[in-house]
Amino acid sequence: MGGVGAAALAASASAKGLGAQKTGELHPFGFVIHGGAGTIERSRMTPERERAYREKLSEALLAGHEVLKKGGGCLDAVVAAIILLEDSPLFNAGKGAVFTNAGTNELDSSIMEGRTLKAGAVAGLKRIKNPILLARAVMEQSPHVMMTGEGAETFAVQKGFELVDPKYFYTEERWQQLQKAKEAEKSPPPKQSRLEKELRAYDEHKYGTVGAVALDRAGNIGAGTSTGGMTNKRFGRVGDSPIIGAGTYADNETCGVSCTGDGEYFIRASVAHEVSARMRYAGEAIERAAAGALEKAEKLGGTGGLIALDRRGNFAMPFNTSGMYRGVVGPDGKPRVSIYKD
Ligand code: ASP
Repeated sequence: MGGVGAAALAASASAKGLGAQKTGELHPFGFVIHGGAGTIERSRMTPERERAYREKLSEALLAGHEVLKKGGGCLDAVVAAIILLEDSPLFNAGKGAVFTNAGTNELDSSIMEGRTLKAGAVAGLKRIKNPILLARAVMEQSPHVMMTGEGAETFAVQKGFELVDPKYFYTEERWQQLQKAKEAEKSPPPKQSRLEKELRAYDEHKYGTVGAVALDRAGNIGAGTSTGGMTNKRFGRVGDSPIIGAGTYADNETCGVSCTGDGEYFIRASVAHEVSARMRYAGEAIERAAAGALEKAEKLGGTGGLIALDRRGNFAMPFNTSGMYRGVVGPDGKPRVSIYKD
């Protein structure tokens, strides 16, 4: 089987997702990415903005594909794509990260290698341009899995990372989102329908977390996630993205996963690990496992989505919001990007 068609991708990426698709059988390497889930609707999108998202997601898919095609490692592909998305102001990661209540940007990221179950994570960074690189350094160059705040930045300097001026992360759009969120906080919400709640959450938080999962030619799976978290967060709040098993997970025997959405619920439902556990212990196929794991968060009240890729190149991209920026590329090298449910 060759690469999947756009229609197949859309089908597999629906809220409940039906029928896993294959990214290829001969050399089953594949690459999937997301750029956040939320209330993303055609009616609220300008053609220019949509084009910009599609272009950047395609570029990120191709960056990962380029690595995998040449026989490069899954983590190199994950990092190549996530750096591009972190550097783009379109996404809530790196440049373009949302603001905290204090008017700062605090970045979280994690990465995991499915062959060794090694992992690295960082949280609450204020001066690291590409948090995914530091997460990888924590994994590969320290005995630890997770570092936070100033300690993580001290480690970064020791490893040769440059610290950027926190102003680097400023974007006017995210700043205005913070002002709106603060305004909205002043008036408590009336009783809301699910959609209203979702719209409000989107307006307040503006999802846009990024993530990638790669299956390389050696059959290894790697996954990574990077985010600015939630607009208006305070008290050093940390979401699911840097938590191994919640926002990110990879195991060569099952799959790789990267999540996006209301972090608190994804933590409580251990969503990323749940996908892997369902495959391992219940023998579920990736599509079912991914939908089931998301449902677990949904039952608690969480909205969002995830991308998952198994060792054969089957993938699933369920989400329970109106949209999720997402894409897949298989051995044919043709990036397929989707945004909306249909
Ligand atoms: N999951 C992220 C967090 O809770 C936010 C997102 O995915 O948009 O920090």
